[in-house]
Amino acid sequence: MSLSWQSKLIHPQARAPEGFQSLATPTYRGSTTLFSSAGRVLDHWDQQQAPYSYGLYGTPTSLELGARIAELEGGRHCFLTPGGQAAISLIGLSLLSAGGHVLIPDNAYGPNREFADRVLARLGVDAEYYPPLLGAGIAERLRPNTQLVWCENPGSVSMEVQDVPAIAAAAHAVGLPVALDNTYAAGVLFDAFGHGVDITMQALTKYVGGHSDLLLGSVTVRDRALYERIGDTHQLLGMGVSPDDCSLALRGLQTLGVRLAQLQASTLEVAHWLAARADVERVLHPALPGSPGHEIWRRDFSGSASVFSALFRPELSVDAIVRALDRLQLFKIGYSWGGVTSLVMPFFGLRRDHGAPGRNLVRFNIGLESPQDLLADLRQAFADLAD
Ligand SMILES: *Cc1c(COP(=O)(O)O)cnc(C)c1O
Repeated sequence: MSLSWQSKLIHPQARAPEGFQSLATPTYRGSTTLFSSAGRVLDHWDQQQAPYSYGLYGTPTSLELGARIAELEGGRHCFLTPGGQAAISLIGLSLLSAGGHVLIPDNAYGPNREFADRVLARLGVDAEYYPPLLGAGIAERLRPNTQLVWCENPGSVSMEVQDVPAIAAAAHAVGLPVALDNTYAAGVLFDAFGHGVDITMQALTKYVGGHSDLLLGSVTVRDRALYERIGDTHQLLGMGVSPDDCSLALRGLQTLGVRLAQLQASTLEVAHWLAARADVERVLHPALPGSPGHEIWRRDFSGSASVFSALFRPELSVDAIVRALDRLQLFKIGYSWGGVTSLVMPFFGLRRDHGAPGRNLVRFNIGLESPQDLLADLRQAFADLAD
């Protein structure tokens, strides 16, 4: 067929030579994916059952990222979501139904709680917040209508390390699944499935992305029935992800090992330095003795990451702490963590149902700057904190 130039724009005959083999995964963009015959048309999200049928259900770029997250976490299947919060809501909307009950640790990521209070409640699901360190005591909280138990290890901001195996054993004794927010461990510093978890999620936004320039989340399972339940909901909620973000996350994975090793070392240096200061009452870092759940961290984790909190002495005024934080040069003030830049975030008056950690809490995220420079920055900013 001889084509006009307008049609050639859409149906070119020109082609690049074949045979290029890059080390990088190609970034496939596509909503439509083609069928080889009208007789082969079908529509299913699961490429294990059917060939590619629609871009929303995954492209080779997103499916490779998912497969690699599942491989690292020791799961079998991984779904990608537009962010970590979407991963949390996907798990809830997949497994909870009206009349049900969900147990969430009191120190869970804030929007996890808000999703339960503002969305799940509207759908008739009752959320209960339990003390994160109760371990096997979770058994007493399980009700006949409980449908899911959440864990987060360590918990957001107050950093308690949970006895996940004990919680999982109690939940499994009555046939309940356990979901874990495994963001802190980047899916690698804590073996979630090995410790009894059934569903893990991560904000890939944090360590896998690693450069504060993308938003992505993941939900990983081993069990086939959970895979089908979550996959179905994932499709029907329309949780598509950008292939460009997936490509950046695939690149992030390549340096995750060296970044985590450096971040662990630098973070411990800063955390110990802060713990030794007179104006700091306590440092909440899982690898520091005395931090809540430290013994469990030693038992269950293979390393620590870049985020921790410091409690400044209660008699210091919030204004004095704000002035000190504003004097920081290298540390920036902003949410999120796991990137290359050091951050601080005040959580003054952080509320917890089960014991508030203290009024003057500041969360630190350590980046890839030289730890000597970070300490110098903290030293100058906090020099006259007491004034
Ligand atoms: C950041 C974070 C999330 C949410 O991730 P987003 O990608 O920002 O939606 C969930 N859980 C934890 C523990 C987080 O720190």
